[in-house]
Amino acid sequence: MSLEDYEARRGDRSPEPRGGEASGDGPIFVIQKHDASSLHYDFRLEGDGVLKSWAVPKGPSTDPSEKRLALPTEDHPIDYADFEGVIPEDEYGAGTVLVWDRGPYEHLTEARDGGEPPSLEEAVETGHVVVRLHGEKLTGGYALQRVEDAEDPEDARWLLVKMSDDAADARRNPVSTEPLSVASGRDLQEVREDEGGEDDA
Ligand code: MN
Repeated sequence: MSLEDYEARRGDRSPEPRGGEASGDGPIFVIQKHDASSLHYDFRLEGDGVLKSWAVPKGPSTDPSEKRLALPTEDHPIDYADFEGVIPEDEYGAGTVLVWDRGPYEHLTEARDGGEPPSLEEAVETGHVVVRLHGEKLTGGYALQRVEDAEDPEDARWLLVKMSDDAADARRNPVSTEPLSVASGRDLQEVREDEGGEDDA
Protein backbone atom coordinates (compact mmCIF):
# COMPACT_ATOMS: atom_id res chain seq x y z
CA MET A 1 0.00 0.00 0.00
CA SER A 2 1.44 3.32 -1.03
CA LEU A 3 1.82 6.28 1.24
CA GLU A 4 -0.83 7.99 -0.88
CA ASP A 5 -3.35 5.32 0.06
CA TYR A 6 -2.36 5.56 3.68
CA GLU A 7 -2.77 9.33 3.75
CA ALA A 8 -6.07 9.23 1.91
CA ARG A 9 -7.58 6.73 4.34
CA ARG A 10 -6.27 8.51 7.36
CA GLY A 11 -7.85 11.71 6.06
CA ASP A 12 -11.22 10.03 5.78
CA ARG A 13 -11.23 9.03 9.44
CA SER A 14 -9.89 12.02 11.27
CA PRO A 15 -11.59 15.40 11.39
CA GLU A 16 -8.81 16.76 13.60
CA PRO A 17 -6.06 19.18 12.63
CA ARG A 18 -3.12 17.31 11.16
CA GLY A 19 -0.22 19.64 11.69
CA GLY A 20 2.35 16.97 10.94
CA GLU A 21 1.52 17.02 7.29
CA ALA A 22 2.51 20.61 6.86
CA SER A 23 5.74 20.12 8.79
CA GLY A 24 7.00 16.88 7.36
CA ASP A 25 4.72 14.63 5.39
CA GLY A 26 4.36 16.80 2.32
CA PRO A 27 2.28 19.79 1.32
CA ILE A 28 -1.34 20.31 2.32
CA PHE A 29 -4.30 21.91 0.63
CA VAL A 30 -7.21 23.58 2.35
CA ILE A 31 -10.55 24.83 1.10
CA GLN A 32 -12.12 27.40 3.36
CA LYS A 33 -15.78 28.29 3.04
CA HIS A 34 -15.94 32.05 3.45
CA ASP A 35 -19.21 33.87 3.94
CA ALA A 36 -17.95 37.36 3.14
CA SER A 37 -19.71 40.07 1.09
CA SER A 38 -20.45 37.12 -1.16
CA LEU A 39 -20.09 33.45 -0.29
CA HIS A 40 -17.09 31.75 -1.87
CA TYR A 41 -14.60 28.96 -1.31
CA ASP A 42 -10.90 29.78 -0.86
CA PHE A 43 -8.81 27.08 -2.49
CA ARG A 44 -5.27 27.04 -1.09
CA LEU A 45 -2.22 24.97 -1.95
CA GLU A 46 0.90 24.88 0.21
CA GLY A 47 4.05 25.55 -1.77
CA ASP A 48 7.23 27.58 -1.52
CA GLY A 49 6.47 28.36 2.13
CA VAL A 50 3.05 29.90 1.56
CA LEU A 51 -0.51 29.00 0.65
CA LYS A 52 -1.14 29.85 -3.02
CA SER A 53 -4.79 30.95 -3.07
CA TRP A 54 -7.78 31.27 -5.37
CA ALA A 55 -11.34 32.31 -4.54
CA VAL A 56 -13.87 29.98 -6.17
CA PRO A 57 -17.35 31.59 -6.09
CA LYS A 58 -19.30 28.39 -6.73
CA GLY A 59 -16.87 26.07 -4.95
CA PRO A 60 -15.22 22.99 -6.38
CA SER A 61 -17.11 20.33 -8.33
CA THR A 62 -16.56 16.58 -8.58
CA ASP A 63 -17.96 16.66 -12.13
CA PRO A 64 -15.25 17.02 -14.82
CA SER A 65 -17.72 18.83 -17.10
CA GLU A 66 -18.21 21.61 -14.52
CA LYS A 67 -15.61 24.33 -14.94
CA ARG A 68 -15.52 26.57 -11.90
CA LEU A 69 -14.24 30.13 -12.05
CA ALA A 70 -11.22 30.62 -9.74
CA LEU A 71 -9.92 34.12 -9.03
CA PRO A 72 -6.36 34.42 -7.70
CA THR A 73 -5.98 36.05 -4.29
CA GLU A 74 -2.93 36.89 -2.26
CA ASP A 75 -0.64 34.23 -0.80
CA HIS A 76 -1.62 33.31 2.73
CA PRO A 77 0.67 32.11 5.56
CA ILE A 78 0.75 28.36 6.10
CA ASP A 79 -0.86 28.68 9.54
CA TYR A 80 -3.95 30.10 7.88
CA ALA A 81 -4.88 26.58 6.88
CA ASP A 82 -6.15 26.02 10.45
CA PHE A 83 -8.10 29.24 10.65
CA GLU A 84 -11.78 29.01 11.42
CA GLY A 85 -13.69 31.92 12.90
CA VAL A 86 -15.14 35.33 12.31
CA ILE A 87 -13.29 38.19 10.58
CA PRO A 88 -14.62 41.40 12.12
CA GLU A 89 -16.73 43.80 10.11
CA ASP A 90 -14.17 46.50 9.49
CA GLU A 91 -11.51 44.07 8.25
CA TYR A 92 -10.65 42.85 4.75
CA GLY A 93 -12.68 39.73 4.03
CA ALA A 94 -15.10 40.37 6.89
CA GLY A 95 -17.29 37.37 7.49
CA THR A 96 -17.27 33.81 8.73
CA VAL A 97 -14.71 31.18 7.74
CA LEU A 98 -14.78 27.42 8.19
CA VAL A 99 -12.42 24.71 7.07
CA TRP A 100 -14.54 23.00 4.41
CA ASP A 101 -11.93 20.45 3.34
CA ARG A 102 -8.25 19.75 3.73
CA GLY A 103 -5.59 17.12 3.51
CA PRO A 104 -2.36 16.27 1.77
CA TYR A 105 -1.95 16.88 -1.93
CA GLU A 106 0.53 15.93 -4.62
CA HIS A 107 1.79 18.47 -7.13
CA LEU A 108 1.72 16.75 -10.54
CA THR A 109 2.28 19.58 -13.03
CA GLU A 110 4.63 18.30 -15.71
CA ALA A 111 7.45 20.18 -17.34
CA ARG A 112 6.51 21.46 -20.79
CA ASP A 113 9.98 21.00 -22.23
CA GLY A 114 10.73 17.59 -20.76
CA GLY A 115 12.95 19.09 -18.07
CA GLU A 116 12.55 19.19 -14.31
CA PRO A 117 8.95 19.44 -13.08
CA PRO A 118 8.12 23.01 -12.08
CA SER A 119 7.72 24.11 -8.49
CA LEU A 120 4.20 25.12 -7.51
CA GLU A 121 5.16 28.77 -7.83
CA GLU A 122 6.57 28.20 -11.33
CA ALA A 123 3.44 26.31 -12.33
CA VAL A 124 1.27 29.17 -11.07
CA GLU A 125 3.33 31.65 -13.09
CA THR A 126 2.91 29.47 -16.16
CA GLY A 127 -0.85 29.39 -15.63
CA HIS A 128 -1.30 25.63 -15.40
CA VAL A 129 -1.35 23.59 -12.17
CA VAL A 130 -2.23 19.92 -11.72
CA VAL A 131 -2.71 18.42 -8.26
CA ARG A 132 -4.02 15.22 -6.70
CA LEU A 133 -6.01 15.92 -3.54
CA HIS A 134 -6.32 13.56 -0.58
CA GLY A 135 -9.03 15.39 1.31
CA GLU A 136 -12.01 14.20 3.29
CA LYS A 137 -14.55 15.46 0.74
CA LEU A 138 -12.42 15.88 -2.37
CA THR A 139 -9.97 13.35 -3.75
CA GLY A 140 -8.23 12.79 -7.04
CA GLY A 141 -6.96 15.08 -9.73
CA TYR A 142 -7.83 18.74 -10.19
CA ALA A 143 -6.48 21.16 -12.75
CA LEU A 144 -6.22 24.91 -12.39
CA GLN A 145 -5.92 26.63 -15.74
CA ARG A 146 -5.45 30.33 -16.32
CA VAL A 147 -7.84 31.34 -19.10
CA GLU A 148 -7.39 35.11 -19.01
CA ASP A 149 -4.09 36.71 -18.09
CA ALA A 150 -3.70 40.22 -16.70
CA GLU A 151 -0.90 42.58 -15.76
CA ASP A 152 -1.84 42.23 -12.10
CA PRO A 153 -2.00 38.46 -11.36
CA GLU A 154 -5.00 39.12 -9.10
CA ASP A 155 -6.98 40.34 -12.13
CA ALA A 156 -6.41 37.09 -14.04
CA ARG A 157 -9.15 34.49 -14.41
CA TRP A 158 -8.61 30.78 -13.90
CA LEU A 159 -10.80 27.70 -14.04
CA LEU A 160 -10.78 24.89 -11.48
CA VAL A 161 -11.74 21.59 -13.12
CA LYS A 162 -12.04 18.05 -11.80
CA MET A 163 -9.97 15.64 -13.85
CA SER A 164 -11.49 12.43 -15.19
CA ASP A 165 -10.38 9.72 -12.79
CA ASP A 166 -11.79 7.29 -10.23
CA ALA A 167 -12.81 10.15 -7.94
CA ALA A 168 -14.80 11.98 -10.61
CA ASP A 169 -18.54 11.79 -9.92
CA ALA A 170 -21.13 13.92 -11.70
CA ARG A 171 -23.82 12.92 -9.18
CA ARG A 172 -22.03 14.22 -6.11
CA ASN A 173 -22.44 17.84 -5.16
CA PRO A 174 -20.39 18.17 -1.97
CA VAL A 175 -20.65 21.97 -1.86
CA SER A 176 -24.37 21.66 -1.14
CA THR A 177 -24.61 18.21 0.49
CA GLU A 178 -21.53 18.43 2.75
CA PRO A 179 -21.55 21.95 4.18
CA LEU A 180 -19.92 21.31 7.55
CA SER A 181 -16.39 22.06 8.70
CA VAL A 182 -14.04 19.06 8.56
CA ALA A 183 -12.18 20.62 11.50
CA SER A 184 -15.02 21.24 13.96
CA GLY A 185 -18.16 19.70 12.44
CA ARG A 186 -19.82 23.12 12.64
CA ASP A 187 -21.78 24.97 10.00
CA LEU A 188 -21.28 28.69 9.31
CA GLN A 189 -24.05 29.69 11.72
CA GLU A 190 -22.48 27.69 14.55
CA VAL A 191 -19.06 29.23 13.91
CA ARG A 192 -20.72 32.67 13.98
CA GLU A 193 -22.51 31.91 17.24
CA ASP A 194 -19.42 30.42 18.89
CA GLU A 195 -16.88 32.96 17.75
CA GLY A 196 -18.70 36.07 16.55
CA GLY A 197 -18.37 39.03 18.88
CA GLU A 198 -15.04 38.11 20.43
CA ASP A 199 -13.50 40.91 18.42
CA ASP A 200 -16.17 43.44 19.33
CA ALA A 201 -14.56 46.41 20.98
MN1 MN B 1 -12.01 34.56 1.05
